[in-house]
Amino acid sequence: MPDESFLDWPFFEERHRRFARELRAWARETVPPLVDHDDVDGSCRRLVERLGEGGWLRAVVPEAYGGIAPGFDVRTLCLARETLAAVDGLADFAFAMQGLGTGPITLFGSEELKRRYLSPVCEGVRIAAFALSEPEAGSDVAAIATTATPDGPDHVRLDGVKTWISNGGIADHYVVFARTGEAPGARGLSAFMVDADAPGLTIEQRIDVIAPHPLATLRFEGCRVPLAQRIGAPGEGFKIAMATLDVFRSTVGAAALGFARRALDEALARSRTRKLFGAPLGELQLTQAALADMATAVDASALLVYRAAWTKDQGAPRITREAAMAKMYATEMAQGVIDKAVQIFGGFGVTRGVKVEELYREIRALRIYEGATEVQKIVIARELMKGSPHQPSL
Ligand SMILES: Cc1cc2nc3c(=O)[nH]c(=O)nc-3n(C[C@H](O)[C@H](O)[C@H](O)COP(=O)(O)OP(=O)(O)OC[C@H]3O[C@@H](n4cnc5c(N)ncnc54)[C@H](O)[C@@H]3O)c2cc1C
Repeated sequence: MPDESFLDWPFFEERHRRFARELRAWARETVPPLVDHDDVDGSCRRLVERLGEGGWLRAVVPEAYGGIAPGFDVRTLCLARETLAAVDGLADFAFAMQGLGTGPITLFGSEELKRRYLSPVCEGVRIAAFALSEPEAGSDVAAIATTATPDGPDHVRLDGVKTWISNGGIADHYVVFARTGEAPGARGLSAFMVDADAPGLTIEQRIDVIAPHPLATLRFEGCRVPLAQRIGAPGEGFKIAMATLDVFRSTVGAAALGFARRALDEALARSRTRKLFGAPLGELQLTQAALADMATAVDASALLVYRAAWTKDQGAPRITREAAMAKMYATEMAQGVIDKAVQIFGGFGVTRGVKVEELYREIRALRIYEGATEVQKIVIARELMKGSPHQPSL
């Protein structure tokens, strides 16, 4: 039985505990038959559909469009990602992208955009994506080169390349960030909702990664988009991207936490059953030390993730420092926890088809996307330096 004692922490209300327990039961039963890691497109389509039918995607849109809360309830998003990730990485991915790919509309979109896009995403009948990164603009978002230039009174035309776009190739629509030139650098970007069948948008290449999921490079060539599809005001693109990531960054930490918890559970089970030198592996003190380190890292990660989520849910306008700490710590710690689990499994741990081997591949990208660990360190340090100067206390 997995450790659910963290649900008793004061960060949560009864509705969160119920949500986590019900989702866990649903996911264990429903997710495994839907997933075929050799067919990630089909798996993600099935997962989105069933997550929608099950009502779980109600966590990613506001109440007025079918959701369960007036805005984002970040604790629910984190619990969902942690729970789904512990069952299967693709289930977490399918859930998370529906939220990330519509987050800009939820936070800044017009009523018309909300009505058109949020309900179908919540029902699991349309697939969403978030297109920020480019070949020369990953960590350095301000270097975005895709342009949106006026094309008649009511349209812009998009030209450029986006890469590493999750759900690229299967998404029904993309939030695309492009340069509109109101000011240099980050202050000259705007966000647009672009339908996947818009003329001038093509999937240039599908990208295969160590833990496969739908991922692509997109090319925009004279892609005409109505101005009504702009999200927020001209020049607000960077602000929209950062505000969306502010909500979703701690949820990446939560996904890492789900992977780490599953690795710990697998390692515990193996330590009880595998016999070594005439006794269970778990009776060796070095195994116990590894298990103790893993469990402590898991709890510390959970505290940071749910501290960030709780702070946002209490109405903090931004949780830049808390979310960066949660994302950085939980992803780095999960990598270490999973590595220890693989070690405990011995040769079996690097064998394809064994869960810890899958987790070992799944965790890696989380230390890179939505701001690499190095970027989070810079964000945390900048937030610390912003604080009012004070004398060190003696
Ligand atoms: C599986 C996967 C899914 C993704 N999904 C999406 C998506 O849906 N939408 C989207 O827009 N993007 C997505 N991305 C892109 C992702 O956000 C970028 O990969 C990430 O921002 C890093 O950019 P980059 O790959 O260009 O690396 P670079 O910007 O070239 O950075 C390389 C490395 O440099 C280091 N680094 C960065 N800044 C500093 C610094 N200041 N000091 C020291 N070192 C530093 C980091 O270790 C970083 O990993 C995805 C990426 C992956 C791997």
